[in-house]
Amino acid sequence: MPLPIVYHPIYSNVRLPERHPFPMSKFAMLRTHLIETGVAGDNQFSEPAPAERALLETVHDRDYLDRFIHGDLTQAEIRRQGFPWSEALVARSITAVGGTRHTLELAFEHGLATHCAGGTHHAHRDFASGYCLLNDLAVAAAWALDSGRAKRVLIIDCDVHQGDGTARIFEQQPAVFTLSFHAGSNFPARKADSDRDVVLPRGAGDTEYATALAAHIPAVLDRFQPDCVLYDAGADVHADDRLGHLSLSDAGMRARDRYVIEQCVRRRIPVACVIGGGYDRDVPALVRRHALVHEQASACFEQFLSTDAA
Ligand SMILES: [Zn+2]
Repeated sequence: MPLPIVYHPIYSNVRLPERHPFPMSKFAMLRTHLIETGVAGDNQFSEPAPAERALLETVHDRDYLDRFIHGDLTQAEIRRQGFPWSEALVARSITAVGGTRHTLELAFEHGLATHCAGGTHHAHRDFASGYCLLNDLAVAAAWALDSGRAKRVLIIDCDVHQGDGTARIFEQQPAVFTLSFHAGSNFPARKADSDRDVVLPRGAGDTEYATALAAHIPAVLDRFQPDCVLYDAGADVHADDRLGHLSLSDAGMRARDRYVIEQCVRRRIPVACVIGGGYDRDVPALVRRHALVHEQASACFEQFLSTDAA
């Protein structure tokens, strides 16, 4: 069988005001792109169910969930989340959390799986921030622990922005190790303390990035010995990203994704990949960047995990 990929049509099903900077169409375009380029077959995608309320409450504050779901957020909260509130936005967000959880479940089953959304790592326990309303990475990690599938979860966050929400949520949780590679000059201005923060200077490119990965990933995997990895493959590390301060090329991103996935898979640690952030008015170009993690995961899956007869 081929790499399991998780997607739901609801992901792009939110209308935003004209010129809103968030490229909401990218999720549906990513699925189409993966099929058109032969990375994935039509029947390779599975649709997640929305995350249950009880699952969301393992990470999020009840009062915040009530106000988010029913549209009772303050104007300040809406400004901070970055999206106008709508029922479609709520449905989309809850389904995307279910999607990352489902991706992790498929990773436990097959060794590796990818999600065509996810990585909303600025969402905190009781507030949304920077286009992140619910923290899918945190919910999936909590699910892995609570369901007994994992005793230790490692979150490798390679989005260009620090995973501050995830880091704060798991500040006091030794069973989850948060490892964030990010540009020090990028949002958020006030960083949280991850278990390990690898801060890259503005403008760092392929070589500096690869050196940083090699200096930290094998060591953390071998010392922490996670039972699974959640990998946020943010595309906003790319040189052409509108919001990122790093300068990775396509080749550099490809090498990053390949390296992270392969380090885990070679150690037989299940990996669930999410696409993370990526911002470009040229959405087809952005979609090609988000496709890279699926391409690399697909290649690793075939090389290391596929049970098909040769
Ligand atoms: Zn980002």
